[in-house]
Amino acid sequence: MTARILDGKAVAARIRAEIRQRVEERVKSGLPRPGLATVLVGDDPASHVYVRMKRKACQEVGIESFPHELPATATQEEVEDLIMQLNQDPRVHGILVQLPLPKHLDEERILGLIDIHKDVDGFHPVNIGRLAQKGREPLFVPCTPAGIMVLLEEAGVNLEGAKAVVLGRSNIVGMPVALLLIRANATVTVCHSRTRDLPAETRQADVLIAAVGRPEMVKADWVKPGAVVIDVGVNRVEAPDTPKGYKLVGDVAFDEVKEVAGVITPVPGGVGPMTIAMLLKNTLRAAELADRERVAL
Ligand code: NDP
Repeated sequence: MTARILDGKAVAARIRAEIRQRVEERVKSGLPRPGLATVLVGDDPASHVYVRMKRKACQEVGIESFPHELPATATQEEVEDLIMQLNQDPRVHGILVQLPLPKHLDEERILGLIDIHKDVDGFHPVNIGRLAQKGREPLFVPCTPAGIMVLLEEAGVNLEGAKAVVLGRSNIVGMPVALLLIRANATVTVCHSRTRDLPAETRQADVLIAAVGRPEMVKADWVKPGAVVIDVGVNRVEAPDTPKGYKLVGDVAFDEVKEVAGVITPVPGGVGPMTIAMLLKNTLRAAELADRERVAL
């Protein structure tokens, strides 16, 4: 049986339309237009593409963007000064620091300086800490993991007591998605480069999240029949017969795994569009939080 394909593009489009409407309504009622500042340091081409996509998405839903580009030689002090300035700017509701930062910069310190009310990427240690603790609520949840949870909900997946396996333990995807799955009452195994027998682990999964950055690593015989497979990976592989000379593939061997899985996300068009939709949602939420009294730390 062929898996049901989860169309992240369609779900994201619907969420974006809802956000656009809510932004229009608040502006009409005299509330400030939500604003997102993007901070891009250096000249990594992929980072430039991502920031451009995020700014375009903001524009489409009526969120104002405030782009800041610093050279690869920017000092720690220069980046920190910019963050402090954005923290004070009332037009800026969300601050996004595009990762990875150049190696000489202290990423942890920079992310920790962002006002948690403006932490729309959800990477501030307070937000991540709250995510990891029972009974605590983060102000913002990291965008890719949040998008994965929305996709699972859309697919009608019952996570209560389900066995979930997460491939990858990065700060951006693997670890926060594992925390969200635990909060949703799944039983979670997190695998990584030192895991002894990956296929033996993944074959146990009712829900398998692949976030390793290894092209088509997850094969059909790694997947339990009927499992829900969410492919986060975005890998560029050579494809000489295409106009660009390359194509994007996920961490899952889509063509073979779709014959075993019950539900699967494609790459592109699965998790990727959800990440940007969640960023917009978090930015709107930041503007709404600013409308109210500041939440006590
Ligand atoms: P990282 O490189 O930060 O983390 C990769 C994780 O996978 C690590 O935990 C690593 O283990 C593990 N890993 C790597 N190789 C293997 C292996 N052979 N076997 C088992 N585990 C392995 O990547 P990210 O989490 O940032 O991204 C993962 C993928 O998701 C990438 O393809 C990225 O492009 C994509 N991505 C997509 C997004 C989207 O919106 N669609 C957003 C963000 C990322 P260890 O910890 O031991 O090193």
